[in-house]
Amino acid sequence: MSAAFGRFFLPGPTEVLPEILEAQAAPMIGHRGSETERLLEACAGPLRAVFRTSRPVMIATCSATGLMEAAIRNGVRRKVLCLVNGAFSQRFADIAAACGTEAHVAKVELGRTFEPDQVRQLLKESGADAVTMVHSESATGALNPVAEIAAAARETGDDVMVLVDGVTSVGGSPVETDAWGLDFVLTGSQKALALPPGLAFGVASERMIERAKTIRGRGIYLDLVVHEEQIRRNQTPYTPAVSLLFALRAQLLRIEQNGGIEARWLEHERMRQRAERWAGERGAELGVSYLPEPGRRSWTVSCLRLPENPGGSVLARAMKAKGFVIASGYGKLKDSTFRIGHMGDHTVAELEAVLDALNEALRRG
Ligand SMILES: *Cc1c(COP(=O)(O)O)cnc(C)c1O
Repeated sequence: MSAAFGRFFLPGPTEVLPEILEAQAAPMIGHRGSETERLLEACAGPLRAVFRTSRPVMIATCSATGLMEAAIRNGVRRKVLCLVNGAFSQRFADIAAACGTEAHVAKVELGRTFEPDQVRQLLKESGADAVTMVHSESATGALNPVAEIAAAARETGDDVMVLVDGVTSVGGSPVETDAWGLDFVLTGSQKALALPPGLAFGVASERMIERAKTIRGRGIYLDLVVHEEQIRRNQTPYTPAVSLLFALRAQLLRIEQNGGIEARWLEHERMRQRAERWAGERGAELGVSYLPEPGRRSWTVSCLRLPENPGGSVLARAMKAKGFVIASGYGKLKDSTFRIGHMGDHTVAELEAVLDALNEALRRG
């Protein structure tokens, strides 16, 4: 099984190491018993290290979208500013609409990012008391300057909650929850943390929890006030996906043993740099180029423009025939781009093999 590792490069779900998959096969334990408490306790410190926070990290049994919905339902009092630069950031706006939350939706072109001055202006104009953004927009490979945007939001007052989807950044590139002053950061298990899908993790600032307490209609399943109370006692409000918690503990231990979160960031940075160098050296000849600007590129997802032939879907099929799974573009970019998800436990050496295969697939296309 391990011989096959290094062939699956979707921007989520990501490839999971055999030993992590095997950790799930442990016998069931009662979720109100001391064994589960010990399990959650063992995850607490390492999860805080991953999120760079001293706050408790909540564990929800749902996909990442569940905690995106929690962000809106727990964090917005009057109106939310949704920064939309791709399909996942659009999801926050869709959730706001579905929850009946008033939203001001700001859009930039696909592949672009939001910049602090612009956000300062948008916050003033909109009068919003929360702002949503996706750090690494997996649909376009663009990396928003979240630290600078959060600082700009802070300047406009203490009233604005900064709500961040870190699904393809947490665990793969620097996210400094506390130092950047983020009010809610969330991720899912199946992206840069390289676990099977099914768990979501989130950190709420004290301000966020205080705000949530004042909001009615935040629901039951994803009530962050309750989630935080429970996780402080190494409990979850409802039955957690126990098997996934076994995998989580094993993966967090692995990350610690392999040099910690900074070593993990570094390997992702190297993968991004390797893909950028490839595009720089071979891009002109192969007809491909990065969609986002330099300095605004995700460390975990590279999204490149393609010539009309082959389109993204054809390229993904050609790569499949060579034994590699990569992604076509997303949504409107389906055929005009393709994406390599170089995240999780992949390494530069494995990425080399993908790039070699791309050289062939693109030359023939
Ligand atoms: C994958 C992804 C999501 C959605 O995750 P689900 O786990 O499918 O709910 C949200 N945001 C980003 C940036 C993603 O990459």
